[in-house]
Amino acid sequence: EESRFWHKNYPEGMPTQVHIPNQSLYHFLDQATQKYPDHQAVIFMNQQLTYCELKERVDRFATALHVLGVKKGDRVAIMLPNCPQTVIAYYAVIRLGAIVVMNNPLYVERELLYQLNNSGAETIIFLDQFQPKISNIKSQTSLKVFISTGISDYLAMPAMLPAPETQPVLNPPPGTDILCFEDLLQKNSPKPPEVELDFEKELAVLQYTGGTTGVSKGAMLTHKNLVANVLQTGAWLTICKEARERFFCVLPFYHVFAMTTCMNLSIYLSSAMILIPRLELNNLLKLINDYRPTIFQAVPSLYVAIISHPEVQQYDLSSISCCLSGGAPLPIEVQEKFEAITGGKLVEGYGLTEAAPVTHCNPIEGKKVNGSIGLAFPNTDVKIVEVEKGLEEVPLGETGELCIKGPQVMKGYWHMPEETAAALRDGWLYTGDIARMDEQGFTYIVDRKKDMVITWGYNVYPREVEEVLYQHPKVKEAAVIGIPDATRGEVIKAFIVLKEGQQATKEEIAGFCRKNLANYKVPRKIEFRSELPKSPVGKILRRMLSEETKQP
Ligand code: AMP
Repeated sequence: EESRFWHKNYPEGMPTQVHIPNQSLYHFLDQATQKYPDHQAVIFMNQQLTYCELKERVDRFATALHVLGVKKGDRVAIMLPNCPQTVIAYYAVIRLGAIVVMNNPLYVERELLYQLNNSGAETIIFLDQFQPKISNIKSQTSLKVFISTGISDYLAMPAMLPAPETQPVLNPPPGTDILCFEDLLQKNSPKPPEVELDFEKELAVLQYTGGTTGVSKGAMLTHKNLVANVLQTGAWLTICKEARERFFCVLPFYHVFAMTTCMNLSIYLSSAMILIPRLELNNLLKLINDYRPTIFQAVPSLYVAIISHPEVQQYDLSSISCCLSGGAPLPIEVQEKFEAITGGKLVEGYGLTEAAPVTHCNPIEGKKVNGSIGLAFPNTDVKIVEVEKGLEEVPLGETGELCIKGPQVMKGYWHMPEETAAALRDGWLYTGDIARMDEQGFTYIVDRKKDMVITWGYNVYPREVEEVLYQHPKVKEAAVIGIPDATRGEVIKAFIVLKEGQQATKEEIAGFCRKNLANYKVPRKIEFRSELPKSPVGKILRRMLSEETKQP
């Protein structure tokens, strides 16, 4: 077993290598069910499923998908908030050796269409609410099978009503091509066919990300990638215990951070996941107070929202023992205040979709360094290379592009050989993040090579927003940047040059963006200019705009 110099800062007893078995992700569910059939697996509103009940539903739904023609290697789209059906559908698809494609429910038609067509999904599982969006675009996709979870399913369990004003929506009207999730569960046996899979090579999830260049790409995550990252994270969270944890799942599972470190990790630990389908900041403290979670992974803006809530002292948050923050830098004050309020640990980690996602974390116990993303995970190798060519390593302590090697690193991008070749070189994942490592092995993210903006924990690619702005008939030029914001991390600002003789209001531009982009991508600030800074070859210099806004 190779040892790296940062391993000496691992807490005592923490393995530097974790054994990664060659197995399906589904195996975790099988194992948990065998060991703890009657333990709570899923808690949703006032409803719960034991492991035995969850597995039975997964197996029934897998049979249903099989009968509907879903085979090994097929892509199956899931467009659901965090609810039991998400977990059931996800594991059923994986059980069949088919590939999960998670769709963000906030996507507008244009975004959804791209993802469906790029992945070539023929089956989609969705909440009724999204049916109009899907109906509008389905003729332009290869979708053939439509499965709705209905709201009627929620109504079958009265205590689970998401909101009092929700209208009872019945099962899809007869004669439509939409199948009902609950019907499929009832009509099919829990005995799906066994499939042979090569877990190292075969994909479990096709996870879309803007990656380093801004074009949305499907990161191909194999069973091994996901199994490895669950086991690595599990080993790292030394204070978490099998069959004892309660995961607070407020981050959506369509994001790989929550998929791995909440949903899959919870099942690996035979623990309970508390599913929160909709994030309401006002409700968050009450939910923690009532559901008593022990583990709460989130993005920094959520921890900020909690500690700055005016009534935080009125709630009992003491059940929380362990939290992983990721996705964006975690301010030290936030960490300290959150730990003081809850009495639990909050540690910062780092990762990216291409690594399924976690690669670094501060130790839960023992030495941790504020402002650092921590140490590389077990089985994970790191190098920092000069930014231009990415060939040579920089001396320790100097900044360069962070590169990662390990069992969690993706197989490549779906149908994009050039992008894959740029991101994966000699087995190293080029993250596009600029970082520095100290002599203890603690790593610091300095900047992003990519111009990605992170707002509320969501990644926004300036180019995508700019492309929409350019479609506005009055817009001549547009540039989009992220500007720092106390609660959202960053907010999106658009600089716009209008066409000659045109006039437009900020509201008009924002309204246009709202029609074409998910709400979190819509610029919160808009500034009109007569021209934009450009390089000698005419490329708009976003960086100069960012620097201007930093000046007082
Ligand atoms: P995603 O692929 O959506 O998970 O986004 C990954 C990106 O988020 C990384 O490439 C980083 O730029 C950023 N990121 C993740 N964790 C951190 C962190 N702890 N500090 C700073 N940036 C982070």
